Amino acid sequence: MTVSPPIKATAAVQGKLDKLGLHTVADLLLHLPLRYQDETRLYPIAHAPQGQAVLVEGEVIDTNVQYRPRRTLVCRVEDGSGEMTLRFLNFYPSQIKQLSAGKRVRLFGEMRYGFLGMEMVHPQYRMVHEGDAVAEALTPIYPTTAGLSQAALRKLVLAALSAGDLADTLPDDVTQALNLPGFAESIAYLHQPPPDAPLELLAERTHPAWQRLKFDELLAQQLSMSLHYRRRRAQSAAAMPSQHKLTKALLESLPFPLTRAQQRAGRELAGDLACPHPMQRLLQGDVGSGKTVVAALAALQAIENGFQAAIMAPTEILAEQHFLKLSGWLAPLGLRVVWLAAGLPKKDKLAALEAIAAGTAHLAVGTHALFQDQVEFHNLGLAIIDEQHRFGVHQRLALRKKGAQPHQLMMSATPIPRTLSMSYYADLDVSVIDELPPGRTPIVTKLVGDSRRDEVVARVREACLKGRQIYWVCPLIEESETLQLKTATETFEALSAIFPELKVGLVHGRLNARDKAAAMEAFKSGATHLLVATTVIEVGVDVPNASLMVIEHAERFGLSQLHQLRGRVGRGTASSACILLYQTPLSETARARLKIIYENSDGFEIARHDLLLRGPGEFLGARQSGVPMLKIADIEQDMNLLETARQVAAKLIAERPDVAERHLQRWLAGAEQFLKV
Ligand code: ADP
Ligand code: MG
Repeated sequence: MTVSPPIKATAAVQGKLDKLGLHTVADLLLHLPLRYQDETRLYPIAHAPQGQAVLVEGEVIDTNVQYRPRRTLVCRVEDGSGEMTLRFLNFYPSQIKQLSAGKRVRLFGEMRYGFLGMEMVHPQYRMVHEGDAVAEALTPIYPTTAGLSQAALRKLVLAALSAGDLADTLPDDVTQALNLPGFAESIAYLHQPPPDAPLELLAERTHPAWQRLKFDELLAQQLSMSLHYRRRRAQSAAAMPSQHKLTKALLESLPFPLTRAQQRAGRELAGDLACPHPMQRLLQGDVGSGKTVVAALAALQAIENGFQAAIMAPTEILAEQHFLKLSGWLAPLGLRVVWLAAGLPKKDKLAALEAIAAGTAHLAVGTHALFQDQVEFHNLGLAIIDEQHRFGVHQRLALRKKGAQPHQLMMSATPIPRTLSMSYYADLDVSVIDELPPGRTPIVTKLVGDSRRDEVVARVREACLKGRQIYWVCPLIEESETLQLKTATETFEALSAIFPELKVGLVHGRLNARDKAAAMEAFKSGATHLLVATTVIEVGVDVPNASLMVIEHAERFGLSQLHQLRGRVGRGTASSACILLYQTPLSETARARLKIIYENSDGFEIARHDLLLRGPGEFLGARQSGVPMLKIADIEQDMNLLETARQVAAKLIAERPDVAERHLQRWLAGAEQFLKV
């Protein structure tokens, strides 16, 4: 394997390059321009087109500082065809001298027709001599960082172009069949496009040279996921075929039959567990679709084969709910479920740890406390991760290390649109629960401006008096947890004063485990009518009698958060409503979000809109996903290329593994380790 040589640069420059993720010559080659400047053509001042950036050159006639309307360096330049004015609002004293009369200057900027004729404001300029050559290629403008000039970066890229490895990783027959140009040719073209290059195609990134590099990147991604998948399939794990004992017993004890979608997902999981390879499956299902019971069946299949199972949830509230629900299901089958959270009293914690280590605990439920070093499983066979998108890569990895090679089930209520899942979850098997249990009542969503708060208060009172229960969600304050807490307490006090006849509860992230559990229990049992809550109730909380939710400052929440919050109601038989209180004026995106959540109830549809609104990077959260993000390709714009890349990847792996290896080496030299998660 060849490794690309490091960049020849001083430590200071390399420090800047590191910030851009540029460590080797190969990295520099793939650091592609954001856009281009046309400095290949020198225009006469009198005939320079307006409204676009152009290159002109002339002799300085005079330069002075004007003080009105504000301090400005004003410079007159002429080139025989005409005269123009330059204006600099920010300037160094040295520039006055630099631009003194008689000097020759080459300018690049947008020509405008101003008060004194043609002018440029803050042009780029440099001093030249008559007859100095103009650029032969379009000038690339690269993504850069403070302290690293375009000129310096260009020089480094230029050096990389002559020193770097530009050999094609793909054989001609592959690229020709796809009508794509060669690698070396494409790289050279994008770094130094000829003067007549079609600027528009370059800007849109639809030029064949761009297409080639996008394809290469997508191909590398598909290859990597596919190899990762195969590598895992080649590992061995304990086979745990269904014994139809415990699973059957649970199914018989449930007060409801599984939906068809749950049955299908259940079969897929059962099949995976029966195989002697580690399962890596993502179970997707909208909020309330009933993922927990499917997970419980998988856990029972592991347990009836003599293994332990673990369920990890992102919040203590959710973990505790799982614990209660799962104990309720499993204890009658004679199984021991233990609970592990950071806030547990020492004695209880030790007891739980002991039961986990001795194997007397069949199922462990908890938060990230489950994968701390002190936790040793007797024989963990299945690790289940609920709301997987909430966990970082390292946390997921840590739980996997707890077993020799446990099967792994991830669950998510954030549906991933097809384009994204093809691209980012190609290394996982996916099961989808695309059906809600029957008898759910649709949730009516209302958008209410904050000026109509009184009406909302009246409605809440009325609903409570009818025996219904209500969530009141406090505004999200991302910048400060302290402020968030303060708001929650204040909201609690204000609502307690407004509703003296009601029992109001409060739950937030900073309560200790016991108080949190008590607050949830009081609400669940109906002792509390109205629960003031922060977003801690966003995931998983399940109180069927709650049928009204008020969300304050709904405009501050993200789409998936709103969808998840709203999913806390509509779980019982009473008709449910969600009131989104918002503060005007609304920003454009906030307005768009509220419109989407108002018009859609299907999580997949909402996710699709969310992706369009935010783009894949933000949607997935680069750090969360743990998969290298695409730098060049854009999975929405380049959907067709992605399809093609997927097919080519499969063919290469099957028929020409050496080519696949070579290609991956170039594109994922540093990033591949992420994929091992
Ligand atoms: P989520 O997929 O959001 O995790 P849960 O597993 O919490 O959903 O299930 C939501 C609620 O629906 C729970 O109260 C659960 O007991 C109930 N439920 C699950 N499956 C069914 C079903 N097939 N029929 C009726 N209710 C069900
Ligand atoms: Mg859930």
